[in-house]
Parts: sequence; C-alpha cells; structure tokens
Amino acid sequence: MSPEQKPILDVARLVKRFGGFTALDGLSFHVASGEILGLVGPNGSGKTTAINVVSGLYAPDGGEVALDGHAIGGIASHRLVHRGINRTFQIPKPFLSLSVRENIRVALAYGRAAVTPPTIEALLDEYRLAELVDRPAADLNSAQQKMLDLVRALATRPRLLLLDELAAGLNPAELDWIAGRIKALAATGMAIIVVEHLMGFIEQITDRVIVLNAGKEIFEGKLAAAVQEPQVIEVFLGGEHAA
Ligand code: ADP
Ligand code: MG
Repeated sequence: MSPEQKPILDVARLVKRFGGFTALDGLSFHVASGEILGLVGPNGSGKTTAINVVSGLYAPDGGEVALDGHAIGGIASHRLVHRGINRTFQIPKPFLSLSVRENIRVALAYGRAAVTPPTIEALLDEYRLAELVDRPAADLNSAQQKMLDLVRALATRPRLLLLDELAAGLNPAELDWIAGRIKALAATGMAIIVVEHLMGFIEQITDRVIVLNAGKEIFEGKLAAAVQEPQVIEVFLGGEHAA
C-alpha cells in the first residue's frame, strides 16, 4: 500500500472472547483497495474468527473495526453486505435444494444497490459453473461448492472480500487458475483478505501477510520475510500445524 492510500478496512486492538477463552487478543491490521492481504497462522490462531467479526457474524468484545473510517463493529452481516463487505466460508453453506442459478439469483437480489450487478452468465462462465447451472447445489463437489460460494459473494458486489480457505482441496491447476481470478479481482480495486494454509499460494497472490498466533499478530510484512522470522518458524514448526 502506498503511504497516501487510505485503508478501506482498519481493525484496531480487536478482542473476541468465547466464554473464558480469548480467540482474538488485541489484533490490529488494515487493508487497502486493490490490495491482497494474507492472514496466516496455525489452526485455532483466530483467522476465521477475525473474518467472522469483520463480516459481522460476531460482534467484537473490544477494539474497533472501521470501513472507510466509519465504525462497523457489531453491525450485522446482512447490513455489511449492503455496505460492500462479503466473504466465503471455510465450509460453504449454499442453499442445497436450490439450483446453482437460484443460489446466485438470491445473492444478486441481495447485494450492494449502488453498483450494477454482474450477469449470472458472466459469473457462471468465469467460475466454471456454466454446465452445473440447473443442478441443485447439493450435487456439487466440494471445489464446485467453493466456487459457488465465491460467486454468491461476488454477486453482491463487494468492495472488501474475505476468503476463508477457498483454495483448500483444489488441485495444482485449479490453484493456479483461482490465483489468477483473485488477482484479477484485486486489479479492479477490490480489497481482498485471504486465509490459506498453502504457503505457495499465499506467496503467489498476496502483497502482504499478517501472521497470527493465539489471536495476536506476530508478524506483518512480506511472506518471504515472515519465513525468516524465528518466532514465525517456531509457531509453524512447533505447533500442530501441517502445511
Ligand atoms: P483458525 O481459523 O485460525 O483455525 P478459529 O478462528 O476458527 O481459528 O478459532 C480460534 C479459536 O477460537 C479456536 O480455539 C476455536 O476453537 C475458538 N472458537 C472459534 N469459534 C468459536 C465459537 N463459535 N465458540 C467457541 N469457540 C470458538
Ligand atoms: Mg479457520
């Protein structure tokens, strides 16, 4: 991010607790339009929780979340969709009995009103779902459900897109292809936060990463520099994490 560029999302000292357990423990980060930020860290370090709080699924217990400088912490997901935030899920939850087309229609009807929606046909073509359009979502394999989840999010015209392990389970050719798609979205000015365990993929697409451990940031910068940091190496090699 160039110094004069204001972040679209600013997260400061974010705290999220589940009962007595602190999942986010003073997490701060920002992302600018057109930027791809990677969120990496061992299982249980708080990556999904961070996405859940930013996307409005959970209200924070402390700290601030600002979109374009306006506080959004605790605003519900469906309202944030209208403000231009959407996300994919680590485990996609399409409407299983609805067709692919119907799932996308619901999202199109729901999105940010100020922006002309993409057409269903363009989305289907771009994300390789055209041949599945009339099938119930329940018939899709897990990679296809992830693509439908991405298309559902894109149909709402987000300015900030949060991707939670979208690439997990894709084969190398699919990974390359989706990396290209994500970069193309960022090139349109979309801010994108990517949670992923595959370091090659993170290296390929991110401008910058935040490394999380136990709900705290332990590194911020380029992935190439992160893997030189003893504390980062310790967290990745010393824990249960398997890349
Ligand atoms: P990550 O995505 O980095 O693997 P999560 O954000 O899913 O980690 O989880 C962080 C920690 O918070 C974990 O210990 C997890 O068990 C806990 N946690 C996440 N969501 C909930 C929840 N809804 N209720 C209770 N504990 C939760
Ligand atoms: Mg997760």
